Amino acid sequence: MNTGPTFSMLDFIATKKYGGVHTPESIDAFLAALIDTASPLPDYQVASWLMAVCWRDLNFDETAALTKSMAEHGRTCDWSDVGVVVDKHSTGGVGDKTTIALAPLVASLGIPVAKFSGRALGFTGGTLDKLEAIPCFEVNLTPAQMRSILTNCGLVIAGQTADMVPADKALYALRDVTVTVDNIALIAASIMSKKIAGGANGIVLDVKFGTGAFMQRYEDARLLAETMVAIGERTGRVVRAVLSSMEQPLGSAIGNALEVGEAIETLQGQGPADFEELICKLAWEMVQVYLACGGTNPDGVAGMSLDELTPATIAAHLQAGHAHAIFRKWVSLQGGDPRVADHPWEFLAKAPVIVPCPALTAGYVGAFATKDIGELVRGMGGGRRTKTDVLDPAVGLVMHARLGQAIEAGQTLADVHAQSDEQASRVIADLQRLIRIDAIAPELVPPLVAEVLTGTAVA
Ligand code: URA
Repeated sequence: MNTGPTFSMLDFIATKKYGGVHTPESIDAFLAALIDTASPLPDYQVASWLMAVCWRDLNFDETAALTKSMAEHGRTCDWSDVGVVVDKHSTGGVGDKTTIALAPLVASLGIPVAKFSGRALGFTGGTLDKLEAIPCFEVNLTPAQMRSILTNCGLVIAGQTADMVPADKALYALRDVTVTVDNIALIAASIMSKKIAGGANGIVLDVKFGTGAFMQRYEDARLLAETMVAIGERTGRVVRAVLSSMEQPLGSAIGNALEVGEAIETLQGQGPADFEELICKLAWEMVQVYLACGGTNPDGVAGMSLDELTPATIAAHLQAGHAHAIFRKWVSLQGGDPRVADHPWEFLAKAPVIVPCPALTAGYVGAFATKDIGELVRGMGGGRRTKTDVLDPAVGLVMHARLGQAIEAGQTLADVHAQSDEQASRVIADLQRLIRIDAIAPELVPPLVAEVLTGTAVA
């Protein structure tokens, strides 16, 4: 193992290959070499190390050191002049438009939200792609623009710039093509390094599990959540993780413009119950991390101090339209057409063909092949297969069936928003296979939120 100034990639690979432990110094030297544009490490050596990590794993100290070093090799944000700032991250799911409604909701409680978001990854949608369904909405912002928007409306969401966490870009590009994505230490370091570089003091993680999640097994999602919360503690951030179910699409809408429309309807107090439940719960968790970081709001919210709020009082605040007003202002400050806030379906892209997908048999909705439903929307043009694919914001699905629901033959399971009759017919046939109708009702429909991990809960 080489920890000195003359870093040897061969020694670094050998250390992991034989089950050794990297020192923080050797990890730092590796990352410096990885992003050294004058003399970058060869891809085959980095790929070899990644595969060694998949077999031998990284212990917690190595994972935390990797995260910290990845965050520090590149531009980092500091919002201390604005005050305590919070952020949230979702590990991604199908129909997950949470950020678009949650961020204005939290900002409307007087809590600043500064967030860097990503684009669609595999079968899951990306917040930036969804936001770009709003006419003229700008996600490429300079640090000065971000600060100005944050100060003006308490909320800003931008795409990560190339100078932030460049090591993650280099590592992810190789992980993606060497079957080394699914290592929990690498995933935790990738997510948390970006959150730490983003500069928020408190972070709420929405870690999904189930058939439409990146981590399908609950135990894997929980381990990822535990690791990320512990990394937060190690790096001086207050982090909570909410384990939420992705056994069915979140809310009703899947597809970029459809999801933005549904998020706006939720801000207007007319959203799907499960989606409203999740954002109010996540907002409450964001209040807790804000308070734990020393954040205050002397004006309180609806006559209550922040520590008196509950998910139910936050839901009442949402219904009163406060978050909707912040959303309108925020869209306008990021260059978007604010009329979308009041008339989403007039100003968002619309598919030319909208047809119902009928159930073939009567019974009860027993299971969703949620990931495949996400893939179906990706195949319609709602997601990317290659980096350069141009998205179709209009296509997607509006689900009407929920787990456990009684269904008649012919009843509409979903509306298909397609570019052509042929596309709609293909999607209907696939969707009928991907929603299982059983003769008897399922014994148990799992709750949306299974568990919340707080820093102190992770020993
Ligand atoms: N999302 C990320 O940002 N990184 C990973 O490694 C996996 C999912």
